Amino acid sequence: MDRWTPARLWEKEGLGAKCLLCAFQCRLNGNHKGRCGVRAFSEGRVWTLNYGYTGAIATDPVEKKPFYHFWPGTKTFSIGAPGCNFTCLGCQNHGLSQVEANWPGLSRSSPNLAEALVKAALEEGASSLAFTYSEPTVFYEYAQDLTERGSERGLSSLWVTNGYFTQETLRRLDKVVAFNVDLKSFSEAFYRKVTGGGLKPVLETLARIVENNQWLEVTTLLIPDLNDSEAELMALTKWLASLSVDIPWHVSRFSPRYKQMDKSSTPISTLEKAKDIGRANGLKHVYLGNASGLGYGDTLCPNCAKTVIRRSGFLVDEYLLGPNGRCPACGSLVAGRWRS
Ligand code: SF4
Repeated sequence: MDRWTPARLWEKEGLGAKCLLCAFQCRLNGNHKGRCGVRAFSEGRVWTLNYGYTGAIATDPVEKKPFYHFWPGTKTFSIGAPGCNFTCLGCQNHGLSQVEANWPGLSRSSPNLAEALVKAALEEGASSLAFTYSEPTVFYEYAQDLTERGSERGLSSLWVTNGYFTQETLRRLDKVVAFNVDLKSFSEAFYRKVTGGGLKPVLETLARIVENNQWLEVTTLLIPDLNDSEAELMALTKWLASLSVDIPWHVSRFSPRYKQMDKSSTPISTLEKAKDIGRANGLKHVYLGNASGLGYGDTLCPNCAKTVIRRSGFLVDEYLLGPNGRCPACGSLVAGRWRS
């Protein structure tokens, strides 16, 4: 079997194997791929079927991921491979994420483009590689190898993820310097119904990232009548603030997509309500996404409220933070990873 790449993070179980990469921990055997559709058991071992596939690629402002407190104004070279462990009804990238419907050719070989991608990222003037668009957990091996290659050439690695992976996977992501994790809801029922996944492993991931001192930003897409009640937003933001009031929370506006064409876009008033609830519960930095023109993308000093980073959309217009992220007006530290 030389057309696939050996998977990491699995163990033998009976005549098949158990995948230890994400929280589903699928049982794999000769007849069944994993739930993500990109890992399979054959010839006594587990294989990754999407290694080397680059399904989406772009150079983006790091703000687009979104990261607002990690090297603002820099470019990140974004890479996504086919596959996802979730089946979100409103997926914005379902052409990439849902392999059964869209990627029948995953059993063919694909050249490993790691070296060429790192070279392209440097030529584009990127400071980092971002694993995004689909779910990096299910192209872990490729992302890890790109991370290694990139770090040798001075590129940091960022993960934009649903956070539904095992703690063993997180332990192996020690070279990833920043995560943006979707906290899609604060309800197990929502996760089961809308994403196919679950909440608890995501909460564990968030807690461990903070404990590890890796930089964390969190995104919540508010879908009308599904996860936007005051009670749920109160519970979510209280919990997030209990982890750290410094975690930037990106509240994102939903637009009808994929299997949720029957839903309407999130009202701006709902986004503003979420912002107020997050702030009232102590979160220092709440941003509203997919809602440009409202002026909720600027970073303010949490002590004196001076605007320290002014943005238009994803672009930084004005950067006023001093060395190590100090407010130029009052000298307070603004939490983040800043370039000196
Ligand atoms: S990555 Fe997750 S969904 Fe895919 S095979 Fe492994 S445990 Fe299953």
